[in-house]
Amino acid sequence: MPTSRVDTALLATAWLLVCTTLFMLVAAGHVGAPLWLMLTAHVVLGALIQRHAKRKPAPAISPPRPLQSLNASLADELAGIGRLSFDPASGRHRWSREFCRIAGLPPMTAPDEACLEALMPQGLKQMRVTLARHAKDRETYTVEFEIENPQLGTRLLRARARNMFSPEGACEQVLMVVRDVTEDYSQVARIEEARAAAVREAEEARQQANTDALTGLANRRSAMQSLDREIMRARQSGEPLALLVFDVDHFKAVNDTHGHAQGDLVLAEMGGIIRRQKRDGQFAARVGGEEFLMILPGADGRAASAAAERLRLAIDHGTRMADAPSVTVSVGHAALGPGDTSLTLFARADEALYAAKRGGRNQVRLAA
Ligand code: GH3
Ligand code: MG
Ligand code: MG
Repeated sequence: MPTSRVDTALLATAWLLVCTTLFMLVAAGHVGAPLWLMLTAHVVLGALIQRHAKRKPAPAISPPRPLQSLNASLADELAGIGRLSFDPASGRHRWSREFCRIAGLPPMTAPDEACLEALMPQGLKQMRVTLARHAKDRETYTVEFEIENPQLGTRLLRARARNMFSPEGACEQVLMVVRDVTEDYSQVARIEEARAAAVREAEEARQQANTDALTGLANRRSAMQSLDREIMRARQSGEPLALLVFDVDHFKAVNDTHGHAQGDLVLAEMGGIIRRQKRDGQFAARVGGEEFLMILPGADGRAASAAAERLRLAIDHGTRMADAPSVTVSVGHAALGPGDTSLTLFARADEALYAAKRGGRNQVRLAA
């Protein structure tokens, strides 16, 4: 029974005895029995007082245990942090149990020179050079180094280091806490790789959306964007700009005679010839079934006319050499005028192309 309950019971008993004594004194007129009862009450009260006197003082509430008293090795293990100290004068290392675990070595391995060499076959010298470079640092600094973990292979460790100085200012000890950051780095590398792949895929998708699969040239959508852009540039620079539009002559007959697949082969062959004809800064595209364009920034009427003629001959000659039906093209060209938009410029070059068709095909015409 708890002490306080016993005390209460004793006190209650004493009180009852005193009450009974008083009652009997008054009621019976006896003196002996009440005196006896009074004596008993005294004995009980005496025992109670003695018991109270002997009671131990309540223990004081103990203050919380300081954090330092926690097991440092356990804290290191939980945090995955190894500790090491390095004495620059003697070159002596001291390693914590967790550092040994990080390094894949038995606990409490003695870090002698041979052990250090095995741990850092590539980087020990560099590590010493790095620490020497930081020898005068009074602030905490970070060092990263590779180790050879016998179980896990090459691991990258990151150390936060602090130099301890003698009263004379000499660096007596370097203290480090070390973490294995290999996984952090590979995670960053993985994210970086995924990001680069996403950028590559987006670029490929953009390329595909702008490219004609059969000829490998730009498609109509991309061509019209480029024409708008080049017209704006020409307006800003004041440089001339010419547009060639060309179309295969009697291509329907090619398909009819040799089959659609051979027709496709001719178009693919033309893609190669046009690409080879294209100079730096020029832009070529397939804008319809067997219709193409070429944008010639900086070309005046004469230069455009010469380029159109070269192109016509190249296609004539090139398809004749190729392992496919040979074809010719009719070419119309137009120079950018003051009021032109991409649509009006294209329409004028197209008009010139049809003039070339009407004129007998396989020829070049300049727009009016
Ligand atoms: P013109 O000299 O007047 O241009 O005569 P053409 O026969 O070339 O012109 P037309 O417009 O009559 O016919 C064009 C042909 O081009 C019809 C079409 O089947 C063919 N063609 C369009 N796109 C492709 C393609 O991707 N592959 C193949 N094989 N043929 C195509
Ligand atoms: Mg045609
Ligand atoms: Mg056509």
